[in-house]
Amino acid sequence: MPGLLEVSNLQIALKKGDKTINAVDNVSFSINEGEIAGLAGETGCGKTLTALSVAGLLPQKAKILGGEIIFGGRRLTSLNEKDYCGIRGKEISMIFQEVRQSLNPLIKVGRQIREALELNGVSTNIAEGKNNKRRTVEMLFRLGFDEPKKIYNAYPHQLSGGMCQLIMSAIAVITNPRLLLADEPSSSLDAQAQERILSMLVEMNREHKTAVLIISHDLSVIRSFCSRFLVMYAGKIVEEGRADALYSPLHPYTQALIGAIPGRDKRGRNLANIPGKVPSVEDNFTGCPFAPRCIKAQNICVKSFPGAVENGGGKVFCHFPGGGNQNG
Ligand code: SF4
Repeated sequence: MPGLLEVSNLQIALKKGDKTINAVDNVSFSINEGEIAGLAGETGCGKTLTALSVAGLLPQKAKILGGEIIFGGRRLTSLNEKDYCGIRGKEISMIFQEVRQSLNPLIKVGRQIREALELNGVSTNIAEGKNNKRRTVEMLFRLGFDEPKKIYNAYPHQLSGGMCQLIMSAIAVITNPRLLLADEPSSSLDAQAQERILSMLVEMNREHKTAVLIISHDLSVIRSFCSRFLVMYAGKIVEEGRADALYSPLHPYTQALIGAIPGRDKRGRNLANIPGKVPSVEDNFTGCPFAPRCIKAQNICVKSFPGAVENGGGKVFCHFPGGGNQNG
């Protein structure tokens, strides 16, 4: 049975001056109704562009060059902006990473949350308007605001970055979309608020069967809240599988990301870091883009990009998968 979201061979090009660069390269994955999946990788690996393409919100300098995105049987890659407006916000919502830029500084945050309901077909007559306000205040309370009515009447500049992130999440979830794309939903929050927002996504998933894609550089979040994971590196998917496989990942990059997670068992020890940096999208690779940072790299790695090795319902793209942790 096809998934709620089917992304096949997606290719996104970024324009940089006169050059056109492959920023997302042949990416395929699916998300089922009611599933929580996680997309991981360092900044600059193509995660956000992939999510923006699903939401139909790619920046002007980016363009889909190939592949397709099917959502609920509809080919999103063929929709015009008008058709997209009927889906975005109502059926597909997104929590953005850049919260300050996503909120209108001149409108009270409560009004902005209510507008999400009204723009998506919830009536604006007086009775419904009161109901929308009640729903908004309840949502703010659920997100942990002790004085939700006060927050309702606040402007974005009166709130901290973490609070704005919670407001952004409220805007995205209040319409109970079928698919929620959550781009680093908890990155600027303290541990308590982080737990609250992620728990709310899980509750929404249980109550409304909302499919959720959590995009994060932090694999511990994905291991705790998702049933399936995808790891991207330099615009490509390099490993995917069930979240419990993250206890013994096969790709050296996934192993390195896991090794960099802080934990009680690592107290008093230096946290492992991944040597080098993510290659620029301008770099052209014929082989594995992780090779310059990989302690297992061999000659073949710089010559050819590895094919998929199937493993227990997952896949890994590596010439030498498995073995020890890249970070020991
Ligand atoms: S293909 Fe080679 S360089 Fe790439 S991750 Fe696997 S072992 Fe490392």
